[in-house]
Amino acid sequence: MALIDCTNCGRRITDQAVSCPGCGVAMDRFGKSGLEARAESPVQSNPFGLWLVLAVAFAPFVFLWLLLG
Ligand SMILES: [Zn+2]
Repeated sequence: MALIDCTNCGRRITDQAVSCPGCGVAMDRFGKSGLEARAESPVQSNPFGLWLVLAVAFAPFVFLWLLLG
């Protein structure tokens, strides 16, 4: 849960709010775009982290495979 600024009146409200308690504007679209913006950053950095984890996880197996021929 995070605090966001209302696009209409600038009041600080929770992103869980359906509508702004200050001006009553619907927060549906704004909340979705906020969620998308937050979801994008981990997605952008995850592929590199995922490949790094895979490389570290499989490195011993590859090393053993090369060692045992
Ligand atoms: Zn508002």
